Amino acid sequence: MNTPAIVPGQTLGILGGGQLGKMIAIEARRMGYRVKVLDPDTACPAAEVAEIVQGAWSDPTAALELAIGCDVVTLETEHVPFAVLAEVEHVRPLRPSAQVLRTIQDRYNQRHFLHRHDLPQTRWGNIESLDELVAALAHMGTPAILKRRTGGYDGRAQVRIYAADEAQNAWRALGEAPCILEAFVDFSAELSVVLARSVQGEIRFFATAENVHKDGILYTTVAPARFSPAIRMRAEELATRAAVALELVGVLTVEFFLTASGELLINEMAPRVHNSGHVTLGACVTSQFEQQLRAVCGLPLGSQEQHAPAAMINLLGDLWANGEPDFLPVLAEPRAHLHLYGKRVAHPGRKMGHITVLADTTDEALAVAERLHGQLAQAAR
Ligand code: AMP
Repeated sequence: MNTPAIVPGQTLGILGGGQLGKMIAIEARRMGYRVKVLDPDTACPAAEVAEIVQGAWSDPTAALELAIGCDVVTLETEHVPFAVLAEVEHVRPLRPSAQVLRTIQDRYNQRHFLHRHDLPQTRWGNIESLDELVAALAHMGTPAILKRRTGGYDGRAQVRIYAADEAQNAWRALGEAPCILEAFVDFSAELSVVLARSVQGEIRFFATAENVHKDGILYTTVAPARFSPAIRMRAEELATRAAVALELVGVLTVEFFLTASGELLINEMAPRVHNSGHVTLGACVTSQFEQQLRAVCGLPLGSQEQHAPAAMINLLGDLWANGEPDFLPVLAEPRAHLHLYGKRVAHPGRKMGHITVLADTTDEALAVAERLHGQLAQAAR
């Protein structure tokens, strides 16, 4: 089927106006598209660059208002309810589709999908009661991680369980809601592949990234990952298989654990641009945000070629403890880029911005990023 491309001058709709929506909108505006965003907050980050349709993601009326005013709709979050996505899809092309979101937004569905497609993952069990949790812990052992099936991000809605007698507290802490229990993976590293798949099924991936999390939140990314080509190719192969099986159009991020024995296990997938892909903006010919735009508009994908090794470090609200940080040292670094999302209120753990650094080696890029972050952290003490 030949779907007509959505071209500059036409309107892109985005469900969600946080930093991801904002960065997609900036790329779209640069290329001459109009952009509308659905968000409950009229002062959300994307409001600086897009027209806001105010409404909750769970509000079908607001979502339809957005969709009707656009030529194609995409999203920056997987947490829009399926029923709302289905309504949107009824009136306009939604990319990725509601079906993809249904598979990914519920951890049980996602794990079941990986299992059906023989994609490697950590051991897990479905938990719908305290009794099931106690039984699963007896079977799986500790440490383990209990994760609510829906709604979690950045390490939220999940609890680590170190001993069987913590079951009741963990179950209560997550609101006695349906969960999955995962065996704790003693990984040696975390990697991610960010890829784009076009309407025609063309796939292009960015260099596999190597990620470090702190307290469940991404802290640093370097790309390309400092691992053998065999490991990077295996990650690309698994991510490609997932994207094809999902029939996804847009950007897909697949996060992996690398075990001590060199095995790659899929931790989770996100059907969207991702924090670990932020290095692509500035480091690659086409950023993940432009690639998302191209994919959902039915355009050919751009080149993912990377100009130089790169690192990214997140700027969390903790750095705002003593007020607005002094960013001059970051701006004085010739191969660093500062990204601030324009969030009005900073609180600990909130993603406020990030720094990307290009260098001759990934080690050097990471060292510069960490030095700049260290200076900001010092000032916030
Ligand atoms: P998630 O939001 O599920 O990706 O979890 C955030 C971070 O918590 C991951 O990137 C890991 O650093 C850690 N984590 C999550 N699940 C596991 C697991 N099963 N074993 C070890 N670490 C985990």
